Amino acid sequence: MESKVLLIYTGGTIGMIEEPETGVLTAFDFDHLSNQIPELSRLNMELKAVSLGMPIDSSDMNPEIWQDIAQLIVDNYEDYDGFVVLHGSDTMAFTASALSFMLQGLRKPVILTGSQLPIGTIRTDGKENLITSIEIAAAKDNEGNAIVSEVAIYFEYSLYRGNRTTKVSANAFEAFLSPNYPELAVAGVDIRFDTNALLKTRKRQLRFNPKMDDRVALMKIFPGFSTKVYERLFDIEQTRAVVIESFGSGNVPNNSSFYDMIDNYIQDGGIVINTTQCYTGNVEQGKYANSTTFNKLGVVSGSDITTEAAITKIMYLLGNCTSTEEVKTLFAQSLVGEKNES
Ligand code: ASP
Repeated sequence: MESKVLLIYTGGTIGMIEEPETGVLTAFDFDHLSNQIPELSRLNMELKAVSLGMPIDSSDMNPEIWQDIAQLIVDNYEDYDGFVVLHGSDTMAFTASALSFMLQGLRKPVILTGSQLPIGTIRTDGKENLITSIEIAAAKDNEGNAIVSEVAIYFEYSLYRGNRTTKVSANAFEAFLSPNYPELAVAGVDIRFDTNALLKTRKRQLRFNPKMDDRVALMKIFPGFSTKVYERLFDIEQTRAVVIESFGSGNVPNNSSFYDMIDNYIQDGGIVINTTQCYTGNVEQGKYANSTTFNKLGVVSGSDITTEAAITKIMYLLGNCTSTEEVKTLFAQSLVGEKNES
């Protein structure tokens, strides 16, 4: 039987064409997708493309649009074998992370892809990214089960776990990497899946968790920052959780006014997550003296989670849990393969 794949177009460079006279990039009508990529008709599968409202630059992505994408997948879940979401690369790692928390227990692939050059340009990376993403979304094993049953990003010959991925280049075709987790597949002459790396959730039922709480902040530590500047951020009336990007394995300056601010915030019911600014490796609170105080104050270690996954996971947990303790407990666990089990 032919596989059925639903393409969901949200915007980004991939769906743009250059106006011949002006050179300006404009979104093309996705109903005419096959005019732009005639190769699609040669794929042996049933493809349907839908646009999610007006195409956007992914810098304008937000939790409401994540909900719309997730809802579209839920509404069409039984009718399709897989889903491909066309998305700008700038915030693709956030969307992939958010969708992985919103759609737990997936038995089918949700593949996000995009491109660095518009699909209408001669050297575009968009065609290969799109065609291989569709093939991955349709791929089944010998028993007829989907090979990929999670949210993933396909870009430049690699498939990555969505919530492990980060955008690493503004210009290179290899725009993404998942520094702390192996690639799920590599596309060459064949698409080689790493079955050990893929998430195994087939027996579970899809659980749709659309609620996200956006009262979340991000603070990147740098030498010489002033605690005063951040006082309003650590205010429980405004912010329910703060993700801190610390140095190395989770270290921060040994600054008593900063510790007092965090202590008061946590006493008031705020949640503080410690992630590392480093590209690879993980937080180990207590390894150095400059992170031991975080343990005493009740700061939650993010281990090797990406900032993108930390932000969207805390939004998801705040939107769905009934107590601060439950949020902290679940944050420490790996829910959909987003971090190493601690
Ligand atoms: N600014 C664009 C976006 O993220 C870049 C891209 O599509 O890659 O929507």
